[in-house]
This record gives sequence, C-alpha cells and structure tokens, in this order.
Amino acid sequence: MKIKLIGTGSIGALQSSACTLINENILVDMPNGIVKRMKQLDVNVSKIKRILITHLHGDHFLDIPFFMLEKFFTKNNDEIEIFCPPETQEKVKQIFDITFPGDYERVTKNTNIKFYEFNKLDKKEILENVFVTSYVVEHGNLKNSNGYIIENENKIIGFSGDSRLCDNIEEIVSKSDISILDMSLAEDGNNSHMGLNDIEFLCNKYKDKKIITTHMQDYTRKMAKLKGIENLIVPEDGDIIEI
Ligand SMILES: [Zn+2]
Repeated sequence: MKIKLIGTGSIGALQSSACTLINENILVDMPNGIVKRMKQLDVNVSKIKRILITHLHGDHFLDIPFFMLEKFFTKNNDEIEIFCPPETQEKVKQIFDITFPGDYERVTKNTNIKFYEFNKLDKKEILENVFVTSYVVEHGNLKNSNGYIIENENKIIGFSGDSRLCDNIEEIVSKSDISILDMSLAEDGNNSHMGLNDIEFLCNKYKDKKIITTHMQDYTRKMAKLKGIENLIVPEDGDIIEI
C-alpha cells in the first residue's frame, strides 16, 4: 500500500492540516485548502474515489465543497463516496448556502457524490478488496469522532483522527502495521489531542509497529525529530511511504 502524507500540520502550523492519501484513490480527511495543496503536491485529484472523514471540525472536512466544485467544473461524473459522521451532508449544504448561495443543487445534480453517513463501519468493503473499520475515539466533548483502520493486500494502516490517548487508539495501533497518529502537542496530551509523550509511550509499548505522526504544531514537529525514536516517522507534507 502507498501512503502519501498530504498535510501533516495542525491549525496554525506552516504545513497543511492533517490529510492522507492511500493508494492514490482513498483520502482520509479534507481540511481547508487541501484540494489546492494536493495539486501543488502533484496529486491527480480526479483519481480519488473514496473519502473518509474522521470528524466534523473545519480542519478535517471544510474542503468538501471545493472538492465537489472541482468535480463540477471538470465535468467529472465518477461515483465518489464520502464516509462520514451523521449530519455531514447537511453541514456541507449549509457551507454552500453561506459561501456559494444557490449552487448546492446545481453542483449535486451534475456530479455523482454520495454521502455515506454512519455510526459504525465494520470491515466495510469500500473499494474492491479494501476494507474499513471505524473506531470511536475521544476528542474533547465532540461526539462522532472516529479513527479508522484500512485493510488491503494483507496490510493494515491505522488512523487516530483527532484524539487523546484512549483504549481505541491502542486498539488501532495494535491491529495496524503502521499508524498515522495525532501528535498536536510537544509534551503531554490533553483532553482532545495526543502529545509527544503519548506517542513515545505507544512507540515503546508497540515496538514491532511503525507510527507516523501528523496534526503537528511546528514546535512539536521539531521536538519529535530531536528525540529520534526508532519506530517513529516524523514526516513532512508530500512524503510517500510504502508498506
Ligand atoms: Zn484537527
């Protein structure tokens, strides 16, 4: 499987907000500005067929309208499925109503984008031989925050979404060959996000697993690189990792 880190930063960081492309056709999260960022990083946006949204914060779903407009402007009618928390489609419609009044109907009528709102995905086949399971994670008081594992060709990639360290984060890491984890903070985590200390704990406890960090503040990225933890990859936007 091919992992391309599109965005590895947090809000306010120099690098784009957390977003990952798998096998060129599955995108995990659509933060603000990421469609343009993908083009800068030579991603063929028209190849993306499935999108997984972890939760409904702007740095994770705000570019969905721009992705829909991209399909509309390029007259691309490919079937796209967006797997997302309940109420996603209604919120996307509200964003259209505020920012492009009257265009939602026109765009949805001339594209083929389906919102698959779920409470739980249990090894759902989203593309041929690609299976996704969702895990409820703990992101402050926000309901419907999910992590995922994606299985393909006997390999498993895990995603924390935004979360503090909790049982399901350990479940994701233990099941996956490689996990892409929220590491917003440079020391301890808080109620909403993990910190470098949490990631170091996970790297030590699951030594046979690889961990990639994302959602990093600039200072956190710098500190994590200085630590040089053996099974930890601290990437930059655009990095590609094959497993
Ligand atoms: Zn976030």
